[in-house]
Amino acid sequence: MINSRNSKAVGLFAGSLDSILAFRLIAEQGIAAVALHFRLPFAIPGRTPTDDQLQSQAKMLGVSLVTFDAGADYLEIVRNPQHGYTVKMAPCIDCMAYMLKQAKLLMQEIRADFVFTGEVLGQRPFSQSKRSLKLLEKLTGLEGRILRPLSAKLLEPTIPELSGLIRRERLLDFHGRNRRRQIRLAREFGIVDYPIPGGGCLLTDTNFATRCRDAIDRNEFQTLTDIRLLNYGRHFRLPGKSKLIVGRNEEENRILENLTDSDQLILKPVETVGPVCILRGAKPTKKEIELAAQICARYCDHPGEQLVKVAANGKIYKARPCAEEELIQWRIGGPITRPSPVLELDRKGKNHDRRNSAAD
Ligand code: SF4
Repeated sequence: MINSRNSKAVGLFAGSLDSILAFRLIAEQGIAAVALHFRLPFAIPGRTPTDDQLQSQAKMLGVSLVTFDAGADYLEIVRNPQHGYTVKMAPCIDCMAYMLKQAKLLMQEIRADFVFTGEVLGQRPFSQSKRSLKLLEKLTGLEGRILRPLSAKLLEPTIPELSGLIRRERLLDFHGRNRRRQIRLAREFGIVDYPIPGGGCLLTDTNFATRCRDAIDRNEFQTLTDIRLLNYGRHFRLPGKSKLIVGRNEEENRILENLTDSDQLILKPVETVGPVCILRGAKPTKKEIELAAQICARYCDHPGEQLVKVAANGKIYKARPCAEEELIQWRIGGPITRPSPVLELDRKGKNHDRRNSAAD
């Protein structure tokens, strides 16, 4: 039996219940673990642990935390996933491979023995099938070196198990989407402070996915600002192909103004309360600006059909509010609901929504 006292491992750490449990199982075997957390551009606001929460989780688990910001290279995965989309626009296989490759680099850098994750076999029908888990090993060059402690007994033994570094009999055989066993185990470990189990990212949200598809098709999915803009407001694709984003409340108005580049047109009502609107496009036509002003007028606080003064491009447009029936033809997806209802369970393990999602 190999002495595991000086052994190290790198674990993917989402801050979810599954990843917390995986870390506890590894710690129980005397392995020093490093928690690798990814800040992904499509994380669901309010569902993603803050830096402080991550730090206190790492402290509670007794592990060191490394965070990694996914950047433009990650956007290319979403634009063009080698292994397709699993749920809506979520490229889960490529996304997991991206994270595992970074984990592999860290493993090599700190001379760790293996990588582990909180994945549960069958929890996500496509990305967490036996076939997909095997494929991830191949794609990352980590054959035999990715341990999934929560489902290990249902999978082929890995190198750390075969070498005696990890005792297989102390690993688990969790399977499927029901998280009752995880919740029971958390109770046994005395873990009470963990996020409501859930999964997925914004890419699994129907409306967000519609916006992404539209942006990719129009070459507007290039920068992290492009992505942030997809998160806020109502979105419309106007007849000349420019895009109009309309703030839904004061906070969104402020965010949209901050995210606006100098080459984008801002529209604002001048004598009434209403939204900040951004018109994005190479060269919006006069007709598009007029239509944008009408849409802006539609969302202003004003009675009925009255003309509304909207400032844009150094001019004041007197706009008649656009009719609801007209708006529908230009709308890109509905509002983004937060948090996205991908998979909700309460702490008693009761499912509220069983929509398929992807990896934590
Ligand atoms: S659902 Fe999870 S695995 Fe799938 S793309 Fe989003 S973050 Fe990646």
